[in-house]
Amino acid sequence: MHTIWIAYGSNQGDPIAQLLRARKNLATHLDERGASALYRTPPWGYTAQPDFINAVIRYRSDLAPLALLDLLQSVEQQQGRERPFKNAPRTLDVDILYASAKVRACERLMLPHPGACERISVILPLGEMKFKRGLICKLKS
Ligand code: AMP
Repeated sequence: MHTIWIAYGSNQGDPIAQLLRARKNLATHLDERGASALYRTPPWGYTAQPDFINAVIRYRSDLAPLALLDLLQSVEQQQGRERPFKNAPRTLDVDILYASAKVRACERLMLPHPGACERISVILPLGEMKFKRGLICKLKS
């Protein structure tokens, strides 16, 4: 069993519904252990497109990382993912951020995900998940 962190994103075709549908689908294959809130973030790279809805979910799984990538890509396909150009609008993007399993980097799979952890769409939900236990109290205004 290893721990995996998956980043979800969508900005097409009812993005919140897309994320919920993908989460439900993946929960039939992987053991969900925690989820961030949903975040609205500005597009990155190609800015002439709607804001994204993002979340990060943590799982436990026996699936080898490349088999996990196959699963994520099949879920993207089922939800009408198209790749007309780099950073294009998307119905669903699910990326592996980290996996505790040892993986040899290859063209199909790099871990930690290159660049993802520098993006606000990942930093916000991942920060919420990682540091939840560090929260002492909320500041009053
Ligand atoms: P995307 O456009 O985000 O769906 O991903 C484009 C390509 O990145 C895919 O074809 C994957 O093979 C590759 N890739 C490399 N590392 C990762 C990762 N950690 N998670 C998801 N895709 C990855």
